[in-house]
Amino acid sequence: MNPFRFYNPTQLVFGKDTVSELGSLVAPYGSSILLVYGGGSIKKTGLYDKVKEQLASIHATVHELSGIDPNPRLSSVEKGVQICRENGVQFILAVGGGSVIDAAKGIAAGVPYEGSVWDFCTRKAQVQKALPLGAILTLSATGTEMNGNAVITNWDLKQKRGMGSIHVYPRFSILDPTLTMTVSKEQTANGIVDMMSHVFEQYFSQTKDTPLQERLCESILQTVVENGETAVREPNNYEARANLMLCGTYALNGGMISVGMQNDWASHDIEHAISAIYDIAHGAGLSIVFPNWMKYVYNARIDRFVQYAVRVWGVDPAGKTDDEIALAGIQATRDFFTRIGAPATLSDVGIGDESLDVMAADAVRFGPLGSFRKLEQQDVRSILEMSL
Ligand code: NAP
Ligand code: FE
Repeated sequence: MNPFRFYNPTQLVFGKDTVSELGSLVAPYGSSILLVYGGGSIKKTGLYDKVKEQLASIHATVHELSGIDPNPRLSSVEKGVQICRENGVQFILAVGGGSVIDAAKGIAAGVPYEGSVWDFCTRKAQVQKALPLGAILTLSATGTEMNGNAVITNWDLKQKRGMGSIHVYPRFSILDPTLTMTVSKEQTANGIVDMMSHVFEQYFSQTKDTPLQERLCESILQTVVENGETAVREPNNYEARANLMLCGTYALNGGMISVGMQNDWASHDIEHAISAIYDIAHGAGLSIVFPNWMKYVYNARIDRFVQYAVRVWGVDPAGKTDDEIALAGIQATRDFFTRIGAPATLSDVGIGDESLDVMAADAVRFGPLGSFRKLEQQDVRSILEMSL
């Protein structure tokens, strides 16, 4: 196990009707609020009215930035920065899925910074300070509700990049599982794939002597598998939605499950290169890429893949070679993604082979990917080819 520091400042407020605590959670931060949300799901579900009621109860002045797209755009972030500066906004409240919360983080970091928020994504600048923000999560997937990451798309450059800082962890996140019951089957599946992928990026590691972290990862994966199909089949099943919500949050909350372990993140980088051009859902891209990444790299440390197959999927190792066990675990992953309705190939989402080189080159823009097995541009191209 490697040395580590772990610190997570986000307060979780979990349970039915916890939106009723919003007013008292926001009040300490001031009365000028930027409310950030997406394309209107929160209006359809009635959540918008409840949020406005809560903010009215503390006499807050509310400025709004709506229409945050999935794969949130730099242009929306810049618009939010401008609203905050013009109105002396003191606190940002994000109500939605990962895209809305990520956009809010970009805005929070951009307000006190003189250059472009894109500088944080290209590593030209580090976030030194940010406006405080809080979140009401409506979709279980990204973990952004309890981490310091944001993924922003620059549509002019066709690039999707992550930024990260301790300064943009939400001060609080309200997690009411009932708010996720209106998420479509397709988005529920995408969210399931995303949270499992976050665990994979940490679990498939070259770091040795990490039995607790490995078991934490495995138990999240098992819990997602046990509850995922139920949530897709029965959208109003509270226990399934609640368990998925907690799994999504724990899967990527600043690295609690993988302290002292080297992470990988190659598959996320490859997915970002795909969705930067084709604007597909993040979870859909991961569902296509991840099992192929697994097949491509498993020999770099087959014992971890054997453990995964046996512990997470219950593959019976008797009479099988390590290769057969590892591949059975990878196949079980693909089969599960297919059972919940997630796509398996690029052609399933209408993508052909026309941009493989562009995507491979974009993915390795900052150098080779990953650490489980380092991937050069040609390796990324091979994984994309396997994904056709
Ligand atoms: P999302 O892009 O935030 O939302 C997808 C769709 O779901 C939107 O159309 C949204 O509609 C709808 N939706 C959200 N909540 C709903 C509800 N309760 N009922 C009905 N519809 C609902 O999805 P996401 O998977 O949470 O976020 C994806 C983004 O996060 C990607 O850009 C990805 O790269 C990024 N990401 C971030 C991290 C991180 O750590 N920061 C990690 C992984 C991925 P409305 O717009 O109408 O609300
Ligand atoms: Fe992700």
